[in-house]
Amino acid sequence: MRLVTVLTDRGPRACLEHDGRYVDLQAADARLPDSVRGLLAAGPEALAAAARAAERGLVRYEPGQVRLGPPIVDPRKVICLGLNYRDHAIESKMAIPEEPVLFNKFPTAVVGPGHPIELPAVSSQVDYEAELVVVIGRGGRDIDESDALGYVAGYTIGHDVSARDWQLHKPGKQWLAGKTFDTFAPIGPALVTADEVADPQALGIRLRLNGQTMQDSSTAQLIFGIAYTVAYVSRICTLEPGDLIFTGTPPGVGMARTPPVWLQPGDLVEVEIDGLGVLSNPVIRRP
Ligand code: MN
Repeated sequence: MRLVTVLTDRGPRACLEHDGRYVDLQAADARLPDSVRGLLAAGPEALAAAARAAERGLVRYEPGQVRLGPPIVDPRKVICLGLNYRDHAIESKMAIPEEPVLFNKFPTAVVGPGHPIELPAVSSQVDYEAELVVVIGRGGRDIDESDALGYVAGYTIGHDVSARDWQLHKPGKQWLAGKTFDTFAPIGPALVTADEVADPQALGIRLRLNGQTMQDSSTAQLIFGIAYTVAYVSRICTLEPGDLIFTGTPPGVGMARTPPVWLQPGDLVEVEIDGLGVLSNPVIRRP
């Protein structure tokens, strides 16, 4: 299933892609919640009901005539891994980590496809990072690595926008501050359920800036895999349905280039992952 959030005058609506259109799930079955996070929280039976509802859904939106929000509008946690591709750690002149490097973004950073990335006035070094995002389906704590994939609802595309001057050059190297400016966590366009992703660690991942390929790798290069990461994070905090885990970026980021490349107003960034689609966001100066 490909779950999306359609933005309507009645607010964001959980929808399922079906026959090239978006079927409003709650309109098809009043027992279903109106958000994708609510659907995940309602468990596997709700997902099965959603699949059935899509067949008879009467309220359908035409792609191209509606805007999509982030597939998870209001995640309770956005957890991120840094330096999780070997070559990216090397290009960043940082040690290849022996344990996951964790940081987070606040939910206020999350936006959907097509939403502008806003360059804040207080940064002049905003960089791009293509990432595979794990979406938690079932909550849990102290999850065994061998069971961990059972807690994953599916996958989406993420863009870990990063203000390097804040992340790396403020006192104490403030990763949180550098990574959590509003609009710095575009995700989407769809949450693709895990049953439709044969091997999430064998997906081509690319980023294009104004049509030029800047990152081109595979999730096969992840240092810490998805099951390991879910288990690791769950030793620290309770994972909940709809939580997002950004799994790190491959090489090719702007700060590692000579001269460095920083996002500029008018840029268009596209992140593509095999089987998941393309996440496209324009860049503007914060109004
Ligand atoms: Mn990142």
